[in-house]
Amino acid sequence: MNRRSFLSTAALGAAALALPARASWAAIPDFDHDPIQALPLRGASLHVLSGMGGNITVLSTPDGLLQIDSGVPARGASVVQADARLSKAPITLLVNTHWHADHVGGNSAAAARGATIVAQDKTYDRMATPQTIDFLKASVPAYPKSARPALTFPDRLTLRHGGETLKLLHVAPAHTDTDAFVHFTQNNVIAAGDLFFNGFYPFIDYSSGGWIGGMVAGIDQMLALTDAQTRIVPGHGPIGTREDLRRSREMLQTVQSRIELLVAAGKTEAEAVAAKPTKDLDGVWGGFLFDGDTFTTLVYRGLKAHGASEDRKSL
Ligand SMILES: [Zn+2]
Repeated sequence: MNRRSFLSTAALGAAALALPARASWAAIPDFDHDPIQALPLRGASLHVLSGMGGNITVLSTPDGLLQIDSGVPARGASVVQADARLSKAPITLLVNTHWHADHVGGNSAAAARGATIVAQDKTYDRMATPQTIDFLKASVPAYPKSARPALTFPDRLTLRHGGETLKLLHVAPAHTDTDAFVHFTQNNVIAAGDLFFNGFYPFIDYSSGGWIGGMVAGIDQMLALTDAQTRIVPGHGPIGTREDLRRSREMLQTVQSRIELLVAAGKTEAEAVAAKPTKDLDGVWGGFLFDGDTFTTLVYRGLKAHGASEDRKSL
């Protein structure tokens, strides 16, 4: 991933989301391959399609194709072509890990080919109504009915596809309040959605209920299902291992505890940023999507919003 391809991917995201470029640069961080690359994940049947916004995991079986997430809207046709190169079987199931445009943008294209779209209840709710992403200053209109999930679940759902048993697990608010990850139990693979950005500071959508403490808790739920052989598909970044996920968790918990102290001490957002709480981490984590100051701002706002919603609950 170089700077130039990151910028062109960001421009793609801006076009896909119909946002001003400055507001959307963080929305679609990913590898920028043209054409989309199918990376081997496990055996002959599991692949990751990389280069269309969020990573897409594809399980191909003689019975049909199952896809986790569908990329940005502008690449819908390219994803269809990439699927066709993997298998002649039709796409039958599409799981969305959450409601963001870089994960649901190809939904209509998949539904038009006969896929049943599956997601957590709140993914449907947010896709069915206009949304705003405060940090990106983005307004997102409601999705057409054809793009919305047909089958939704509150907490967990088991899907059986080919010989594989997939467990879909919703977590408490983390990246958003709509997140679900997918555990491929036989293949020992987890598709994490945006609960995992591999190798850099993540986006956390506090205007959809997300906050850093939820990211840590969601990662703990995934870690409990892993061993040294588990392969983990992040929402963005390269395919990872349990160690990669652990490192991300440790970073997040460190940042959380430091910024919580600043919030508890009554620091304003500007004072928290000026305190440089992530200074020693920025060299490793701050070079791709967010620098330390931007991530501090994001985390600070998430902690404030989460604290305010907890206060409302306790009234
Ligand atoms: Zn997301």
